[in-house]
Amino acid sequence: MASKANEGLVLGVDLGGTKTLVAVIDPNNQILGRGKLSTPARQGGDAIVEVIIQAAEIALAEAGKSLEEISLVGIGSPGPLDVKAGVILFSANMDVVNYPLAARLHDRLKAPVVLRNDVRAGCYAEWKLGAGQGMDNLIGAFVGTGLGGCVILNGQVIEGKNGNAGEIGHIKAKPNGRQCGCGLYGCLELYASKSGLMKRFDKAKKNGVTSLLFSMWNGSNQKLKSRYLAECYAAGDRLVIEELQRAAEYLGGSLGGLVNLLDPGAVILGGGLSLALGEPWLNWVREAAKQHILVFPAEGEIILPATLGDDAGVLGAALLAREVTRLAD
Ligand SMILES: [Zn+2]
Repeated sequence: MASKANEGLVLGVDLGGTKTLVAVIDPNNQILGRGKLSTPARQGGDAIVEVIIQAAEIALAEAGKSLEEISLVGIGSPGPLDVKAGVILFSANMDVVNYPLAARLHDRLKAPVVLRNDVRAGCYAEWKLGAGQGMDNLIGAFVGTGLGGCVILNGQVIEGKNGNAGEIGHIKAKPNGRQCGCGLYGCLELYASKSGLMKRFDKAKKNGVTSLLFSMWNGSNQKLKSRYLAECYAAGDRLVIEELQRAAEYLGGSLGGLVNLLDPGAVILGGGLSLALGEPWLNWVREAAKQHILVFPAEGEIILPATLGDDAGVLGAALLAREVTRLAD
């Protein structure tokens, strides 16, 4: 069955705090169809399963394929997870606790389901198919609603004792900092991702600061799309630029520390916010990192932009699902 799974079509699922992307992927890692819907992050696990199914139907229709042709499902999900049991333990950005996502999806899709950390999936795809091809030592940092990370050393994804290594978003960034969605205080995610930026923008609005952003976005009861930030940046909006620079300083400083710790070939900067903002964001993070890297290479850059865009998560989820199934063969 396992080898058959590797020959057939895989559904790659990228479950994010803001959106859910599902793709039909062939054995050559070509995407045949995509479905993208908003994640009902505050409505519990069953609502999330429904949205994954709906997005899968859209992707299958676009690909001209049927569910019966799917031999394997790979999901990248925010965590922490119990990957063996296929369970989401909890999530800083979704109201889900001890939810057996793999089992529930298996009931609906009738194919084996492999659940892995979303950022690890995206990073794995960037390593195998994108910006990190051919490198044996990499750090991935994905900035979106939250901030996730992944470490690849000597050609292996570092899983850690409990399978949850790589949570760079929950490195302590500020003593006496605010409480993070994970329950801890002062996490880097609060200062270097959209969930943190939202709090800063709320505060600025309350203090009467004017910004183009407030004509697009009403406050943290509403999702903050990365596109809004890109538009405000392009329009020269002072508040948004200042806050993004502040976030980049926090992120770059911590990434510099990780470079000192691990001496990787590259840090791949991805995620929705990085994709939407592009070069200016990349350069701010690079500048901040450079100030905190002990030995900077004479040539080239350490921090590289992710190259697979929105598809990194679904491609990585599918690749990891094939890998897991092949190893179990
Ligand atoms: Zn945290």
